[in-house]
Amino acid sequence: MKIIDAHNHPDWHGHDLDKFLANMDANNIAQTWLLSWECPIHEYSKGYAKAIPAQVMGSQTGPIPFSRCVAYHERAPERFVLGYAPDPRLPQACEQLEAAYHIYGARVCGEVKVRMMYDDRDALRLFRRAGKLKMPVVLHLQDEIGDRDGAWQEWWGGDIATLERMLQACPETNFLGHAPGFWIHISGDDLYRKASYPPVPCPVQPGGKVPELLRRYPNLYCDWSAGSGCRALTRDPVFAKEFLDEFQDRVLYARDYFDTQHRDFLNSLELSDAILAKLYHANAEKLAPQP
Ligand SMILES: [Zn+2]
Repeated sequence: MKIIDAHNHPDWHGHDLDKFLANMDANNIAQTWLLSWECPIHEYSKGYAKAIPAQVMGSQTGPIPFSRCVAYHERAPERFVLGYAPDPRLPQACEQLEAAYHIYGARVCGEVKVRMMYDDRDALRLFRRAGKLKMPVVLHLQDEIGDRDGAWQEWWGGDIATLERMLQACPETNFLGHAPGFWIHISGDDLYRKASYPPVPCPVQPGGKVPELLRRYPNLYCDWSAGSGCRALTRDPVFAKEFLDEFQDRVLYARDYFDTQHRDFLNSLELSDAILAKLYHANAEKLAPQP
């Protein structure tokens, strides 16, 4: 079965290109969507220091500059699908996205991970441009958890209502939801007020916003990567099987890391080969066709 990892990053968690390619080979991964992460340095917490060497390199554009994605893509073009998301607040963001598309062959607009509401007018302007270029937009969505005595907290993009307004405002743009603030809403409970991640196991309650938005908006897809995506399904394997059956055309296998947790779980569900083919590669190929 052909496998595409629809979410990963260059130089991420101690991987250089050789180590990255060796990991892809060991995991039978044909292609990886290689995403940038550009935002001001004061917007992300120190917790990321181990995962990203960009500051060591003196990057001015963020933790994972697009230039590093290009460097990988140029050395192994057949193994990577190039992603780029400029900071939407930059006056030239749309032009930069166009340039990345036409000059470097970027085909995905991601990862969008900036400390701004994603339905801000500058963000919507960029997302509409991505839609015109047929670039799917990968969103890191993560909300604050409670007030925490007014302490600084990481948040990215807003809440699940922000996502709904974007889906309405940009019907021609395909969005991929990712990260804790997206996946916690697979369930209709109020866990999202208290935690970024659910415990495992933790039965999914009916009425979750994620299934609701998927049914209502054909331009929403799911990036299953990272602990947030994996736990959303491992918390309730019976629900997971129903979810992947109903939304078999809308979920993309993705890692955001170099492990096998998603595949181990997926393979344990005894899904049909037709569904697995969509999750492992066909949905990714549909969203970001390669020449
Ligand atoms: Zn992310």
